[in-house]
Amino acid sequence: MDQKVKDNLKQIFGFSQFRGNQEAIVDNILGGSNTFVIMPTGAGKSLCYQLPAVIKGGTAVVISPLIALMKNQVDQLNAFGINAYFLNSTLNKSESTKVKKEVLAGKTKLLYVAPESLTKEENIQFLKEAQLSFVAIDEAHCISEWGHDFRPEYRKIKSIIGQIGENLPIIALTATATPKVQQDIQRNLQMEEADLFKSSFNRTNLYYEVRPKVKNETKKQIIKYIKSQKGKSGIIYCLSRKKVEEIAELLKVNGVSAAPYHAGLDQSVRVKNQDDFLNEEVDVIVATIAFGMGIDKPDVRYVIHYDVPKSLEGYYQETGRAGRDGLEGHCLMFYKYDDIIKLEKFNKDKPVTERENARVLLQEMAAYAESTVCRRKSLLHYFGEYMEKDCGFCDNCKHPKEKFEGKELLTHAIEAVKATNSRFNIDHIVNVIRGEQNEYMVSYSHDKLDIFGIGKDEDERLWKTVIRQAMINNFLEKDIENYGVIKITPKGLEYLAAPYSIMMSKDHDFEQMLIDETPD
Ligand code: ADP
Ligand code: ZN
Repeated sequence: MDQKVKDNLKQIFGFSQFRGNQEAIVDNILGGSNTFVIMPTGAGKSLCYQLPAVIKGGTAVVISPLIALMKNQVDQLNAFGINAYFLNSTLNKSESTKVKKEVLAGKTKLLYVAPESLTKEENIQFLKEAQLSFVAIDEAHCISEWGHDFRPEYRKIKSIIGQIGENLPIIALTATATPKVQQDIQRNLQMEEADLFKSSFNRTNLYYEVRPKVKNETKKQIIKYIKSQKGKSGIIYCLSRKKVEEIAELLKVNGVSAAPYHAGLDQSVRVKNQDDFLNEEVDVIVATIAFGMGIDKPDVRYVIHYDVPKSLEGYYQETGRAGRDGLEGHCLMFYKYDDIIKLEKFNKDKPVTERENARVLLQEMAAYAESTVCRRKSLLHYFGEYMEKDCGFCDNCKHPKEKFEGKELLTHAIEAVKATNSRFNIDHIVNVIRGEQNEYMVSYSHDKLDIFGIGKDEDERLWKTVIRQAMINNFLEKDIENYGVIKITPKGLEYLAAPYSIMMSKDHDFEQMLIDETPD
């Protein structure tokens, strides 16, 4: 069996070796087990299901939200000599009838299906009749409201799989999943028992930097930076179409070869600008997040965020487009808290839970930007990875903020969590430490605790960063079952029993450095 798999890898896909976890994943799928793959973009997820699909009898159904990319993927597979089709809303009646006929004839190895098409009754009937090998769910984070790209139809996938085949193995794949999202996916697909293959998210060749966004100053800095990178490819992300146009124009009048990209442009203009960027006719693409899904330009040397992204997952995904070739990539974000507030306001008409989720994601984003902790450490912590040492390759490592002895503060923070029985969120814990009276304090009698008010001389901001640093360093943890509740870890308990010296740092004081930008 082993040899057959390797032969196929070489003969069909032209690769002489597997990368990372690929071989173990392929084996697992061939063994018929439910499989959960978490692998950064560009690491080679597609092969993980394409290869077993070719080897197994029957057709593998691949559910993917990226309609625009399905045709490319299928064309590529066809070029490898693999019988593959797609089923989505771009096909007319006779085209989809033809696809179904081919699949039912039993030769097709892969069938890509858009979630919207999957939910159609006629398609469910058709899939019931087809001989299927397994179902792969690409971009599985779309299942979770806590992901950066929630798609309601993704929530229906499990029940549809239940209808189309008993015991069909499920393969879920995603490039981003915080522990919370991971759990959501597994629960929703009822695959808690699935074998998990999680690769590290550390992109060691990316340099992370955050600068304050300052009126007039930021645009000058961007022009200067890009001019210093002459001839290299870069992406600038902005939140609004208007901003994209403005920055692209600004760059052009300053002699930079740049083009805009956003969903409001004509399809033909969008395609041209994207091609110009890929073919290096232009150096810089200024874009909304509409740009980038599936774009694979290996030598993007920098990604600039002119506006703060809506979540750290989005940030990771967007910055991840730099340095795909393994060479250095610079990730530069311009940040001001006002942008966070502005983004929160956009959500004001959304349903309560959606709004609250978005708010929490934005607060995590703000905490990351303002933190003086190693960026990589913070980012990986967000994805559930613990890094022992600082990375040495981010702004906070290169220009460390002055540290202070944090033993007493850390001890108080852990004690406060303990005294309130690991049942409250960061805001409440800080209020306990700072002795803020409110109805919660009274109803839980937390104002009677020894710890109540013990840290009233320090401000809320400092206490929050102490607690965050305690989490990044594994003394405390956020309970993902119970969003927001902070708990003590075994390491935290050990620390309370025998505290030792620990250096901490205050957050950046960006507010001091910036005076608000002109309203946009
Ligand atoms: P992902 O879906 O994880 O973003 P892809 O499946 O698109 O990544 O793969 C990224 C690139 O890596 C593709 O160009 C693919 O051909 C290549 N690739 C995948 N597996 C291998 C391998 N074992 N050896 C060499 N290249 C590979
Ligand atoms: Zn670092």
